[in-house]
Amino acid sequence: MKSCFGYIRVSTQKQGEGVSLEAQKDAIAAFASAQGLSVVEWFEEKETAAKSGRPIFNRMLRALRTGRARGLIMHKIDRSARNLKDWAIISELPDAGIDVFIATESYDFRSRGGRLTADIQAVIAADYIRNLREETIKGLTGRLKQGLYPFRAPVGYRDNGRGKPKTICPEKGPLIREAFRLYASGAHSLRSLEAEMKRRGLRNLAGKPLSLHGIETILKNPFYTGLIEIKRTGMIYRGVHETLIDMRTWRAVEDVRAGRAGKKVTRHNHLYRGLFRCGVCGEPMTPELQKGAVYYRCHTPTCPTRTIREDRLDASILARLERLAFREDDAERLRHGFLAWLHSPERQAHLHSLSLRLDKAHDRQQRLTDLLIDGTLDRSDYETRRRSLAIEIATLAEDKRKAEESDLEPKTLERFIELMKSLSCLHILAKPEEKRSLVQNLFSNRAVSGIEVELKPYDWLEDRDFADLSPLVTRIATLLENLAPEHGIEI
Ligand SMILES: [Zn+2]
Repeated sequence: MKSCFGYIRVSTQKQGEGVSLEAQKDAIAAFASAQGLSVVEWFEEKETAAKSGRPIFNRMLRALRTGRARGLIMHKIDRSARNLKDWAIISELPDAGIDVFIATESYDFRSRGGRLTADIQAVIAADYIRNLREETIKGLTGRLKQGLYPFRAPVGYRDNGRGKPKTICPEKGPLIREAFRLYASGAHSLRSLEAEMKRRGLRNLAGKPLSLHGIETILKNPFYTGLIEIKRTGMIYRGVHETLIDMRTWRAVEDVRAGRAGKKVTRHNHLYRGLFRCGVCGEPMTPELQKGAVYYRCHTPTCPTRTIREDRLDASILARLERLAFREDDAERLRHGFLAWLHSPERQAHLHSLSLRLDKAHDRQQRLTDLLIDGTLDRSDYETRRRSLAIEIATLAEDKRKAEESDLEPKTLERFIELMKSLSCLHILAKPEEKRSLVQNLFSNRAVSGIEVELKPYDWLEDRDFADLSPLVTRIATLLENLAPEHGIEI
């Protein structure tokens, strides 16, 4: 009786409709007894999708070379020869005096014709696999182009099965939104955000608190803004899923991250760190702790601006907010202004200009590709610019969408008015990160000159005739969210 090895390969991939290990083994054993062969050892290879190595296959080849068996029995060519490299090795075994048998088909490996038939089978099998892979990629790309994310939903979203958009998870979604807002406020380092989100109960897909890396991955994932980025290919698609984060918050997070890059993290997250500059020399006012009080200092030696104590800075902000708060006549003018604005030429002009800017950005996207093709740009320059352009396009598209939503609910407008009426109250009650958010969202220019605190409000806040409401209307939703976060102050 000729001694043979039995070689079985099974795929552990779920979709693989292949023959089970037992069925293959039975078929090989039956073939062996019918042909008068004896199986002296079994080699069983479990292929996983993740690993492509074939350790058992290699071990078997080494054993064959030492002469422990005179033949090899396999179940079927298409399974044994997943790739042609393996097949090339197998099909050469007869030259070394080792007989190759296929249990389900009869090939005569000693004849040229038999080997040719087996080779053709192997080529067809390899082509089938290649086609399958291509079809899979095609399928994934197809779904991406439809705006569907064909992988597991990121934290904050839920899977709804194949071909269906991810939906916001009612528990984790709002926590993700908070994480972005907290980080955008600049009041948190990644590490303090990690601790804060753990405290608030944010958990990953495995139900564990998020790691530092996990938090960072979330803050870098544009999926939350409605974009799908495929890292491996560098492609960005527009998703059809509901967004969790608006583009302004996303950009604020990017800015905070860029500002932190390379800088060492300060031990104290002082209230107004990074928000004020010196009005005389333009340098940042940096916080420092002295005798238990926080001071903000201009570090230019000759500058007339020295230091200002945090509580004095805070008092100036409060006084400014008191003066800026809406009164009832402001509210009335805004209500009327809003109704007029809805049908105004200004609004049409605003929509038109947004469309133009969007078209121009699309043109630039096209030109960018041309620059890559003709070699003016190298790949990494191209990727950087393409990414920032994609973000810009998404921002413009979002602005346009918000501007078109002319039916801003009366309730939303009233909420906003209430908020603007109670600005100073808001500041008094706010938690540190909310105070920062107030200052950032209301004042375009923040400086300290000598002993004077200069706070320049945004135009929409300063202009009480509400002459052009376009910049305000597109921002109301964001402002509401930033100034009166759901879990913060109730007004
Ligand atoms: Zn200065």
